[in-house]
Amino acid sequence: MTIIVTGGAGFIGSNFVFHMLKAHSDYRIICLDKLTYAGNLSTLEPAMSNPNFLFVKADICDRKAVNEIFEAEKPDIVVNFAAESHVDRSIENPDVFLETNIKGTAVLMDACRKYGITRYHQVSTDEVYGDLPLDRPDLFFTEETPLHTSSPYSSSKAGADLLVMAYHRTYGLPVTISRCSNNYGPYHFPEKLIPLMITNALADKPLPVYGEGINVRDWLYVEDHCKAIDLIIHKGTVGEVYNIGGHNEMRNIDIVKLICKELNKPESLITYVTDRKGHDMRYAIDPTKIHNELGWLPETKFADGIKKTIKWYLENEKWWKPLLKN
Ligand code: NAD
Repeated sequence: MTIIVTGGAGFIGSNFVFHMLKAHSDYRIICLDKLTYAGNLSTLEPAMSNPNFLFVKADICDRKAVNEIFEAEKPDIVVNFAAESHVDRSIENPDVFLETNIKGTAVLMDACRKYGITRYHQVSTDEVYGDLPLDRPDLFFTEETPLHTSSPYSSSKAGADLLVMAYHRTYGLPVTISRCSNNYGPYHFPEKLIPLMITNALADKPLPVYGEGINVRDWLYVEDHCKAIDLIIHKGTVGEVYNIGGHNEMRNIDIVKLICKELNKPESLITYVTDRKGHDMRYAIDPTKIHNELGWLPETKFADGIKKTIKWYLENEKWWKPLLKN
């Protein structure tokens, strides 16, 4: 079995590469990544000496390069993590989000049609559903929730999801889509909330919190996301969408306070900054379908996962220090 993992030098993609090499030691894993600011080849260092692993630097929008890789490697499965993923950057400059997240997805699926695969899996996000009100804790995103996006990022991901379903219906491409809640864990780029707060707190720098910090996200340890995708590509039903989340809703401000506590830093480091434009209030996933159909359940409790994550950042300064803005 040969699997192409796009975006495998990024946060979740690299964790997925490590998971797959460990869980399926007879599979060949080909990582295809453009190495944007968010991709880091040093992350994949532990995999480089594995004879079942190959790294190829390429842009998923580059049809010729993508076709050459498919021609040479003849993948059975493609898992597409490659994306521009930071909401704030999409507000500044939507263009590259449309290019990579939508066009890149089409280029990959065209190669899948041309060379033949058994599964194309699109890694999507709960952000395609928009947000939920804070005063309705009874509401959750199911796979039937209409797409209703807020940012250029989530719109580009929703556009890609629609295209994936269109390729399934029009060309019979064997696809699946997963929509996951916010991930945290090792190798998370230090512009995102949890690693930003950990790395700033360690340097006694201000901890910038948007608005009042009351926005709610549903946090999942990255390894649990990787295990869910592994299940979907092997046992999931073609043409289906699976939501992934662990019913772990937390307000941003409570996460930041918890990080201060764990690192023994004063809450006076917290500074409230002007809210993000169009900031979604609450995300909350209903993971009933993936649980009932595939038996998936998250294994890492937030209290343990956040401790593991903080420990990883404490022990891996060499990885994140060069990535910090000066
Ligand atoms: P990331 O930004 O850490 O990594 C993205 C990777 O894609 C990088 O290695 C980058 O170099 C690569 N890439 C970007 N443009 C490319 C291109 N044109 N061609 C080839 N490679 C390219 O992102 P992440 O947080 O690991 O997210 C991975 C996927 O999971 C994304 O599709 C994202 O939408 C989705 N997702 C993320 C989260 C989360 O909490 N981080 C939650 C749900 C879904």
